[in-house]
Amino acid sequence: MVRLDDNNKIEWFCHRKSRAGIQTGLDEAFFTSEHFESERRFGAFYDNLYFDSLPALFQHLGIIDNYRASHLTVPIPYMSEKKIAGAIQQFLKNAAVYRNSALDDAALQSFLEASHNVQFIFDQDLGQHESSAILGKMRFSPPCIYISKELQDDDCRRRFTLAHEVGHFVLHSPLLKDYLDFSFDCENSLLFGRNHSSVINKQLEIQANIFASQLLLPEHSLRRDLDEYLDQRQICRKGRLYVDSQLHNRERAWSFLSLMNTKYRVSKEAIQYRLENLKLLEFDPNYDRLHRF
Ligand SMILES: [Zn+2]
Repeated sequence: MVRLDDNNKIEWFCHRKSRAGIQTGLDEAFFTSEHFESERRFGAFYDNLYFDSLPALFQHLGIIDNYRASHLTVPIPYMSEKKIAGAIQQFLKNAAVYRNSALDDAALQSFLEASHNVQFIFDQDLGQHESSAILGKMRFSPPCIYISKELQDDDCRRRFTLAHEVGHFVLHSPLLKDYLDFSFDCENSLLFGRNHSSVINKQLEIQANIFASQLLLPEHSLRRDLDEYLDQRQICRKGRLYVDSQLHNRERAWSFLSLMNTKYRVSKEAIQYRLENLKLLEFDPNYDRLHRF
């Protein structure tokens, strides 16, 4: 038996193979609202057993031997940058996780431990995936964030990986915790540098990178820093940096990136990406971008 909801989606399904007749009394009573909450998409009653998922039913019938949910089958809704910024704000509320505008990762960790029971593990080698070292890992339930011990001496990458994993926790664990035990990241899913962005094609990773970039480099602080920088040098550039073939323009942009790298403890590449994204840094279209600065 199949019932279609208002959106023409299957609300429940009951398969009664090789049974004559339907014991309507029992079934109708069984498929009442107390068993079928609105969010439940599937229900089947067979051999006097109730199944709440199609794989569970197919397994019982011997149609399939095994079933493992894959995150690829879970649709990840699109989130705009603005929505991600809103999610960060809502998540942090008034938690004091910044010191002098830079993210205080120890304070962030304490906040997550105290308010969301997230565990942190920093001293393990996380192994490899397709011959790349795993740098960060998230266990969804109970929540635990792993950062490879390989990153202990690489402050910028460690902080970015941590922020990226926190992004998975905040944005994705409500969606994925019922389907996935772990998610993990190698270099190619983390936005350490713009060069990697071409291989990042998963919505999940793009969102976690945007989250990390926004968390580590808050827009209002960066804008203020750039305004001060341009003011001090009496540069009128409409609040942005410009890179072209002129040496002084390139040096100016590079020196700002260096200052921000020290202040925020984020790689120059990630800062550059964020500045370009906020339209605070622009390249002359005729400038050979391969040489960057
Ligand atoms: Zn990731």
